[in-house]
Amino acid sequence: MRIDLHTHSRASDGTQTPGELVRAASAAGIDVLGLTDHDTADGWDEAVEAAIDAGITLVRGMEISTRHEGGRGVHLLAYLPDPTYPPLVAELVRILDGRDERVPMMLRKLRECGIEIDAADVRRAAGAAAATGRPHVADALVELGAVRDREEAFARYLSAGRPAYVDRYAATLDEMVDIVTGAGGVSVIAHPWGRHERTSLDEPALAELADRGLAGIEVDHQDHDQPARRDLRAIARNLGLVATGSSDHHGTGKTGHDLACNTTDPDEFARLLELAQASAERSGRAAPGLVNGA
Ligand SMILES: [Zn+2]
Ligand SMILES: [Zn+2]
Repeated sequence: MRIDLHTHSRASDGTQTPGELVRAASAAGIDVLGLTDHDTADGWDEAVEAAIDAGITLVRGMEISTRHEGGRGVHLLAYLPDPTYPPLVAELVRILDGRDERVPMMLRKLRECGIEIDAADVRRAAGAAAATGRPHVADALVELGAVRDREEAFARYLSAGRPAYVDRYAATLDEMVDIVTGAGGVSVIAHPWGRHERTSLDEPALAELADRGLAGIEVDHQDHDQPARRDLRAIARNLGLVATGSSDHHGTGKTGHDLACNTTDPDEFARLLELAQASAERSGRAAPGLVNGA
């Protein structure tokens, strides 16, 4: 059984529609697909239909922007939450509003760097995405010929500390773990050591989060080298956290993240589902459950 629990569609910064993504996953031999667009459930309905048609199992999720100690950005994967849970809705609205304000500020800064770019360039690059964000600004920079690819756009202009970086709103990681639990879902920290020093989400910090209700950590991710994976797997075992593995596929928006390039062990997935079931029951929310297209 091939299980890939972290992918993006055009509902956020992937390049495929949710339907195209599901069909591509099916063609890649994936049995269980997690759709986890940034801060939105907008892709879910289309993905559900496609999963039923394609005969694969869909895990509805999202990847929520949060902040941990020191304001550092941490991505939290939320699986099977009730997307109508009011505190969750309120946070997603705040995050998306913050992002909408952020793009014009980034464009002003880019123009100060001498790049002729405006909102229309970003909208064109964003296509059908629910909201425009940094990846779309990066795509627009590529289309304008200012940089070669998204990675260069981030490295030269858009990452923290670079000239066109703009900070934005995010709930704390602690709060968001609580909200996902309240919504009847389960939370898994995406690429915990991906972009950062491994010390900031070390074992004691993860132990506190586990006590709070965190269900798992993403161990097998392209941003983790082999020693990081080994150490994270050991931490997951020590703390009783579920260890997942995923591609973080973005269509053609991110190289080196082909579907199922990392996968989740079926036993780990079964544990995650048990925790999700228990969370749904405890919360009393109408959590969405799996779509069994198989
Ligand atoms: Zn992420
Ligand atoms: Zn992601």
